[in-house]
Amino acid sequence: MTVDHAHDRSVRLLHHDASDRPFIVIWEVTRACQLACTHCRADAIRYRDPGELSTAEGRRLLDDLASFGTPRPLVVLTGGDPFERPDLAELVAYGTSLGLSVALSPSVTARLTRPVLVELHDAGAKAVSLSLDGATAGSHDAFRSVDGVFDATLDAARTIREIGFRLQINTTVTRGNVRELPRILQHVVDLGASLWSVFFLVPTGRGKNLEALTATEEEEVLHWLHDVSALVAIKTTEAPHFRRVALERAGVEALDDVFPPGPLRSDLRAATTDLFAGREPAPRRPRPPIDVNSGRGFAFVDHVGVVYPSGFLPVAAGSVHEHPFPQIYRESEVLQALRRPDGFGGRCGRCEFRAVCGGSRSHAYAVSGDLLGEDPSCLHRPEPVR
Ligand code: SF4
Repeated sequence: MTVDHAHDRSVRLLHHDASDRPFIVIWEVTRACQLACTHCRADAIRYRDPGELSTAEGRRLLDDLASFGTPRPLVVLTGGDPFERPDLAELVAYGTSLGLSVALSPSVTARLTRPVLVELHDAGAKAVSLSLDGATAGSHDAFRSVDGVFDATLDAARTIREIGFRLQINTTVTRGNVRELPRILQHVVDLGASLWSVFFLVPTGRGKNLEALTATEEEEVLHWLHDVSALVAIKTTEAPHFRRVALERAGVEALDDVFPPGPLRSDLRAATTDLFAGREPAPRRPRPPIDVNSGRGFAFVDHVGVVYPSGFLPVAAGSVHEHPFPQIYRESEVLQALRRPDGFGGRCGRCEFRAVCGGSRSHAYAVSGDLLGEDPSCLHRPEPVR
């Protein structure tokens, strides 16, 4: 059995065929970064790699992304720290001139200044995301391994909003900071962020040294995120079963009877109630999670031009030095396999939500070495096959 979600508004569906064109492409323009965050996916390095895509190669990649036509993919320039590239404004302006919507994901360092942000805004960048992994200077600075970065992040976030960018806050959730989530949410709301992206740790890069949530804890956090999604738009990264949670909750009135909160969700909920006491949520419908997953509407290009299904899934699909990006996206066997949920292993392969969820392929790969394997971070037990 599969769940028919075609008319269900609890998940946002793409308006195009995800096997033909991506919804979003993340390009790691450099791996250089002056920070050394404890969870870094990229194992960022101090200096730029001479092999990273040149300005001309970057422009060609942007040409290829624009060639998908309308609707063009969203393009996020990430790193490392994209602000380490002196040609960043040129790349933003070029992508914008092609009709691409370009966003930036910088690190909070001395390079993140108002004049540089204004230059990038003038070049056409639409949105900037910043990381906030702790609710206080003590916890966030420890996570980032730099004193003062918490205060600098809040200052930068205010500047980003003043200049006119959309602001996204990214939070990596681990067992170490999970109980800080309500206070991080308070910062997200107070900063006027458009989107809170909550990333569920994949044990890869430096993140191997941190403790990921158990499947039970992750389920509790996903329900809490759904509970608070009227306060700010929320998306999850590497937890596509947020869509399964949204579908399961759709139309359920007695939520606590059907999905009884455990100790973690109860604590998160109590803390949220205290923090937001007397504050009316913005009059908005919760934004449903969008139906994309690694290789299915989503792709990652690393600093030397290798294409991956996600930045957390180190199985290469091809190189832009050998083939144009659209050809890799449409024809790579790796990406095609990720678009066939019936071929997934374990619970994910027989799950009634496999077409709209599909599991975190990165988690599956990190734990089992099989990118089509079962996602161990999900608690769901699919209905038995009849
Ligand atoms: S079992 Fe797999 S496909 Fe089903 S909800 Fe969980 S992660 Fe998604």
